Order: sequence, then structure tokens, then C-alpha cells
Amino acid sequence: MGYTVVRQKRKTVAIVIDEHFNVIVKAPNYVTKKQIETLIQKNEIWILNTIEKKRKLIETKDWYYTRKLMYLGQYWPVEIVECSIKSHNIPKVDFTDKGFIIISDGSEIMSRKLVEDFYRVQAKERLAQLANRYAQMVDVHFKKITIRNQATRWGSCSSKGNLSFNLKILCAPVEMIEYVVLHEIMHLKHFNHSKAFWKDIEILMPDYKVRMNYFKEYGQNFII
Ligand SMILES: [Zn+2]
Repeated sequence: MGYTVVRQKRKTVAIVIDEHFNVIVKAPNYVTKKQIETLIQKNEIWILNTIEKKRKLIETKDWYYTRKLMYLGQYWPVEIVECSIKSHNIPKVDFTDKGFIIISDGSEIMSRKLVEDFYRVQAKERLAQLANRYAQMVDVHFKKITIRNQATRWGSCSSKGNLSFNLKILCAPVEMIEYVVLHEIMHLKHFNHSKAFWKDIEILMPDYKVRMNYFKEYGQNFII
């Protein structure tokens, strides 16, 4: 089994699998090569299992491997087309009713960047539209909208009236995005989760609980 030894100031030896499935052994200087080799042999099954688990997780969820992107509540097929200098194609993302076509240099980095840019542009446009609509209904004003690619939060609202939304929200169906936007807009009226806050949400969106639960259940599948 191939592995890389990284010498570090540490007390124990650690075996880690990096994002490219390489085996890295972090070891203090006093541990000999032979001791490391023995340790690797002893942990061979664990290492192989860990690599396999990691690979499966990534391959079943990450669009780059599945070639399926979740967008507005549906999985869409993804085709990556390499652009050459000759063809004069500029790198971009085309989205049609058949799915995504990514025209890139073929590298993973550029394809990912293009997809993120596409979601960001779409998010800015759609979320601004929804925020304007709900702000009018609730009779409040917001300042600006920021789109972030963050791990957990779907949206937030500052006391200054700035709204922030998660880029991954675009994976969800429009009805669910509506709920997140209304929730944040409502915070401009009630800066808490009081009974009055939920009552006002319910008046405008009687089925808000179903929409709220959607994120709890499927949110972890949103990967861009
Ligand atoms: Zn809230």
C-alpha cells in the first residue's frame, strides 16, 4: 500500500485519508520507518474501508461524480464539454429543460467555479424578486441581499436590515425557497421567533410548517 509520511511535532502517529484518497501518515521524528510500515500493515483493512466509505459518500452526493445537479427541487443531468481555443467557445453554463451543459477547460476546478457562479447569479435574481414581493406584503424594507456559500444556515437577517441567503438554497423547490425568504423578511417586523412572528408567517403562508421541514429532511443533500 502506498502512503506518504509527514514528519510533525506530535506525540502520536495518525493515519489520515485526504480528499484525493491518498494515505498520509503523520508521525513524530522518533518513530522509525519500520514502525510506520508495521502500523500501516496492522491498519490495512481499516484504511481500505475508510477510503471506500469516503469514495462512496462523495460519488453518491457530489454532482461532479454523479453528473446530476440538484436545482430548484429536481436533479438535472450534467454534461461537461471541453472548450478548445479553436472552437472559440467561452467557458459558461447553459441550462435548458434537458439539463446543464458546462463548457469549460475540462478541469474540475473550472467546472465547479462555473456552476457556483451560475447558482450565484440565479440566486441573486430569484431571491431579490421574492424578497421584494414579501417585503411589500409585510410592509417592511430591506437594504441589500448577500449570497453566501455556507455550511448550514439557509438565511439570516441583520438588525440593519441586510438579508443573507445560502447559495445552496437554489437546490430546493421554489415553494421552499419562498418560505426561507418570507421567514427572513418577517424578521424585519419581528426580530425574534415569538408567537406573533409565527402567527404573521402563518397568515401569509398557511402551510409554512411543511415547507420548513423540507430543509431539515433534505438540506444535507444540497451540494453544489
Ligand atoms: Zn428566524
